[in-house]
Amino acid sequence: MNQKHPGRSSAMPRLREDVRTGLTSEAIKSAILENLYYVQARIPRIATQNDWYMALAYTVRDRMLDRWVRSIAALQRSSRAVCYLSAEFLPGPHLANAMMNLGIYEQTREAVKQLGLDLDVLITQEGEPGLGNGGLGRLAACFLDSLATLEVPSIGYGIRYEFGIFDQEIRDGWQREITDKWLALGNPWEIARPEIAYYVPFGGHTEPCYDEKGRYRVRWVPERVVKGMAYDTPIPGYHVENVNILRLWKSEACESFDFQAFNIGDYYGAVEEKLVSETISKVLYPNDEPTVGKQLRLAQQFFFVSCSLQDMIRIHGLGGGGLPDTFDERYAVQLNDTHPSIAVAELMRLLVDEHGIEWERAWEITKKTFAYTNHTLLPEALEKWSLPLFRKMLPRHLEIIFEINRRFLEDVRLAYPGDDERLRRLSLIDETDDRYVRMANLAAVGSHAVNGVAALHTELLKKTVMKDIFELFPEKFVNVTNGVTPRRWMVLSNPGISRLITQAVGDAWICNTQDEIRRLEGFADDPSFRDAWYRVKQENKQKLACLIRERTGVVVNPQSLFDIQVKRIHEYKRQHLNALHIISQYIRLKRNPSLNVPPRTVIFGGKAAPGYFLAKLIIKFINSIAEVVNGDPEMADRLKVVFFPDFNVQNGQWIYPAADISEQISTAGKEASGTGNMKFSLNGALTIGTLDGANVEILEEVGSENFFLFGLTAEEIANLNMLGYNPRAFYEKNEELKEIIELIRSGFFSKGDGSLFQPLTDALLNRDEYFLLADYQSYIDCQGEAGTAYLDRDRWIRMSILNVSRMGRFSSDRSIREYLEKIWRVEPLMVNREK
Ligand SMILES: *Cc1c(COP(=O)(O)O)cnc(C)c1O
Repeated sequence: MNQKHPGRSSAMPRLREDVRTGLTSEAIKSAILENLYYVQARIPRIATQNDWYMALAYTVRDRMLDRWVRSIAALQRSSRAVCYLSAEFLPGPHLANAMMNLGIYEQTREAVKQLGLDLDVLITQEGEPGLGNGGLGRLAACFLDSLATLEVPSIGYGIRYEFGIFDQEIRDGWQREITDKWLALGNPWEIARPEIAYYVPFGGHTEPCYDEKGRYRVRWVPERVVKGMAYDTPIPGYHVENVNILRLWKSEACESFDFQAFNIGDYYGAVEEKLVSETISKVLYPNDEPTVGKQLRLAQQFFFVSCSLQDMIRIHGLGGGGLPDTFDERYAVQLNDTHPSIAVAELMRLLVDEHGIEWERAWEITKKTFAYTNHTLLPEALEKWSLPLFRKMLPRHLEIIFEINRRFLEDVRLAYPGDDERLRRLSLIDETDDRYVRMANLAAVGSHAVNGVAALHTELLKKTVMKDIFELFPEKFVNVTNGVTPRRWMVLSNPGISRLITQAVGDAWICNTQDEIRRLEGFADDPSFRDAWYRVKQENKQKLACLIRERTGVVVNPQSLFDIQVKRIHEYKRQHLNALHIISQYIRLKRNPSLNVPPRTVIFGGKAAPGYFLAKLIIKFINSIAEVVNGDPEMADRLKVVFFPDFNVQNGQWIYPAADISEQISTAGKEASGTGNMKFSLNGALTIGTLDGANVEILEEVGSENFFLFGLTAEEIANLNMLGYNPRAFYEKNEELKEIIELIRSGFFSKGDGSLFQPLTDALLNRDEYFLLADYQSYIDCQGEAGTAYLDRDRWIRMSILNVSRMGRFSSDRSIREYLEKIWRVEPLMVNREK
């Protein structure tokens, strides 16, 4: 080999492979050693595991950069791009995913082995960027993966929180929150872009003025200005040349040090200004629902939206001749929930105030640019901001919203003459008690499309929380059912089952999931395939069992039925209904030890919002039941209860593939879609669930004979509510339920303290807002059926295979194709075919 002329040109034969781009294990090995030395400044003898991890991460990142640079160039040349605005992204660890998508997993394993290291150990060195709370942030990450894989020119925009979602520890059964210091050891996946920075104004007042043509204008004189700086993370598509950008904004003071203040002696004033500015991107709000009245939260939203829109305008201009006047032709901007909905007013401000475009034209551009995804049916979760707070922080935006509203309500008056009640409901300003800006109304009025995230959810949106908007703009409403990426959630996290599927139907299912994975169906009748399927599931359960022992000390039997519920802890998700079932099993087994039920391990995981008292009490409740059940020798190998701490993407990758039963038991009409339901089922778990969110569509696809359905429908719940629901009636007429509640109240699970769980039992008996008691018997019976089905291993495995083969619709690739067709009207752009 010619060692003298290392180079990249493929025209030059027999060159040493480039240390930055070579894909053989030899090249990767040299690259790791070079990065260890030149980036980490370490030699192998004294390198820590983290040094090796960093060297490996830079090696993998190097291999994305060439594609990335070409993809960015392609994006700048593209005629239209998607911008996904989301206050949350939950991408999970990057390393293994990037190796998989680049197609260098095996070479890297070999290279690492030659260095005397274990790839799996290095992979676990990586902490994950917890820049989201749960489903919404994870959806954004799955969408970025699909956008990159489908070669759609796109940018994800968000906030580079210094502290992401807290790490959860369990102490004495209670949740403890630990600050997530994900940047402490450095982040090899991001590239700081100090030259891509924007000024974001806050506060102050507005003044009327006239421009050079004598037209009336408004000037915003802000009280302070914060700088937003870009940090880019490459998002590689699966086995394509395209690498997209996740661009996250970090807030900084405009001048890192205010010398003027320093000179006149106000040293602390100068530093304080810096602190206040940096606070904006400091921490993620750990609530699944909006945080009321938190000024900083609104500042975060406006901060990242303003930076992102300014960035889009700049990129548009780079293409040459890109006037802000054609903004809507160049970009499709998706608002992930109302968190970025201030974008409607900010784009109007940028177009009208900064670029001198007439209001009417600017409004057309704005509506054509944005589309809004709604994620919730809980009325209390609809974001609103009080007028005084809004005016103080964003005085110009409030004026713009008033003007949008004035014109909007004029149209409404014409459409519904004399219907003042409707006018009040539609207004962007809620005037019922205090005055608030209604962000969902702003998003819907300022967008050309509004979508729900599952068929049932979109229908309920039209009938309930967005009824008036729907009646006014029926043409705006579309459904796009959520999906998850089969790359991370199958190929990466469940290599066993992925290998089996590929052996059976070839590997086209990884990108063409819907059409290809269906061909697995015939294999459900093949006994040797079923056997292999069973063995893979057992291996996955064995691995999880080890992890459970490591993290909790509880020893579980991998032969038992793994019955799993992992998701944020919320009353509407009804983890406590699952807990009631455990108690019923416990009582029944105590009474009749020869009961013909399979041994069962019930596993929970999920974080509670730190201020959500009942959610935290539910965690304590589960752990208290676990203590009693796991400590009872008669329950050994019959029933076990585990609370797996710190549920996050990484832990999910262990947990979903190991499940036999997936618990999707929310009160019908409350869960917008759910995506955990899809991850479980794609990994061969059978669902026990209500007709809620995407469960409805999962049931349709897999067939009712492969789904354990229970509970009231959304309509029945609504009727029961209307007629006056009395949970005590259900309690009185159900002996077992009564016994369970009395056992809890007696202090049986709380070392004799009868008051500990009283807030829970009181909530159930007096209000039961989420209809646990109404669904109780149906759930218990259904769990019985699931247990019986599990006793027949052949039948169970058959159902498991059929589930997977029929779940192809729930790939996020399908979701993204629907967004492309129904909402964005963007063509994929094949980077590998561009030169
Ligand atoms: C998928 C996922 C969720 C969403 O789960 P649901 O069951 O749909 O609520 C939340 N958190 C993490 C870490 C996930 O991976």
